[in-house]
Amino acid sequence: MYISTRGNSGSVTASFAIRTGMVPGEGLFVPESIPVLSREEQAGFQGKPYGYAAEKIFRLYLDDYTDEEIRCCIEEAYGSGKFGDDPAPLKSLDSDTEILELWHGPTAAFKDMALQILPHFMKLAVEKSEKKEKVLILAATSGDTGKAALEGFKDAPDTGIAVFYPAGGVSPMQELQMVTTGGSNTHVYGVEGNFDDCQAAVKEAFADTVLAEKLAGKGWRLSSANSINWGRLLPQIVYYFYAYAKFVEKGAVEFGEKININVPTGNFGNILAAYYAMKMGLPVKELICSSNENKVLTDFFMTGTYDRRRELVRTNSPSMDIVVSSNFERFVFETCGRDGEKTAGWMRDLREKGYFTVDAETKRNIDGIMTGGFTGQEKTLETIRETFNTSGYLLDTHTAVAVRVNDGYRRQRDDWTPAMVVSTASPFKFADSVLEALSLPHSGSEEEKLSDLSTVSGWAVHPSLSGLEDLEIRHRGRIKPEDMHDVIYAIV
Ligand SMILES: *Cc1c(COP(=O)(O)O)cnc(C)c1O
Repeated sequence: MYISTRGNSGSVTASFAIRTGMVPGEGLFVPESIPVLSREEQAGFQGKPYGYAAEKIFRLYLDDYTDEEIRCCIEEAYGSGKFGDDPAPLKSLDSDTEILELWHGPTAAFKDMALQILPHFMKLAVEKSEKKEKVLILAATSGDTGKAALEGFKDAPDTGIAVFYPAGGVSPMQELQMVTTGGSNTHVYGVEGNFDDCQAAVKEAFADTVLAEKLAGKGWRLSSANSINWGRLLPQIVYYFYAYAKFVEKGAVEFGEKININVPTGNFGNILAAYYAMKMGLPVKELICSSNENKVLTDFFMTGTYDRRRELVRTNSPSMDIVVSSNFERFVFETCGRDGEKTAGWMRDLREKGYFTVDAETKRNIDGIMTGGFTGQEKTLETIRETFNTSGYLLDTHTAVAVRVNDGYRRQRDDWTPAMVVSTASPFKFADSVLEALSLPHSGSEEEKLSDLSTVSGWAVHPSLSGLEDLEIRHRGRIKPEDMHDVIYAIV
């Protein structure tokens, strides 16, 4: 069962949490208790396909889904070849570093890992409801969630999907991917503002009871494809266990030996899933939260104060250009002793004063688990260049941030624990910046850039990125954040 981070909800089932997306009013759903996987169960993941670990883990959390339903969801998401041979390959960068590639899905970003299965969870969640409502999925996106959500929910029965991205705040490739999406139930809008504006407007739409009533009158309800939805986070726990098993199979660590995990972070969903994996018994020494110049989280780990009173900077790792990381609420809830009242107070401070400071005990709890670091745009490009020159491995800008922060962390802490750096996007998705990093021309068409990158790296272009410029642009909507409610109502 699931409870609210703000103590304002009774226990609800998994299907309710997934269908609703967010706690009505305010707050996020978290599991009532965190299950633990024994050593034997974890050892059993070695040599098994991805779906094996997924099934074991989903069964612990999806209380009102049958085993058969869970198996079907897994089969449709990961079993149909959409991710190639292996959804999450582990590649050695050097003797202490493994890269977990999570971008082999249909849109070349790690969001596919969760957004290919969320629609199947959602369809069942809607069927399990007494009310027969249609669901309009809303997603605010800094670039990658949008396309992954559109592909996942495209043409899903009794479902609409509306995506809002910051106009001019995503890469050309990301924008092309979104605005060329087909399907009869897809809606895409550029919003005048940055990602935080998009996310805030979407959250307001969820909190708006008048809008909810109007939609209910027409037989619709809203839900979320962002990582505020538990159904988006849960699938992300799986790959940490799966990848650890591979770490052991490769001989990079002994079974049971701890590793560090470094995650390039934006909304704090991916690293939160790593934290839950750690709570479930995964052998982890330190979680390292990597940021770009939008380093709110790095500052928090230094000081214990989360301060959003700053301008959002647009960087060459745009999917991490976020100041208000939604899932941080779940993390402070977990680390303050699961105190809903405290968490609600801090979130109120964040909204009203623009910052909050956790108490000393919470800060101590966090210090034993997670640390943060950041790097700038120049160093990000330098890291792509140096890594390519020394190892022939091509990083995208987001993963490069994490590799850079990881090197700095090691030297500073003198901690040479084997590390898993999570790779969140294919380098082809950010071809512009990657070509710039390699001092190659990057002014041609998107197609030319992809082909140039393929030539220097010897890697095949990710199939979903090729030929986008020949597709028809099907979505041209531009809106102001304050118009979002009207736009949503117009869709139904
Ligand atoms: C979404 C995204 C991130 C940030 O992930 P969070 O779960 O929001 O922290 C990092 N890199 C890429 C490429 C992304 O698409």
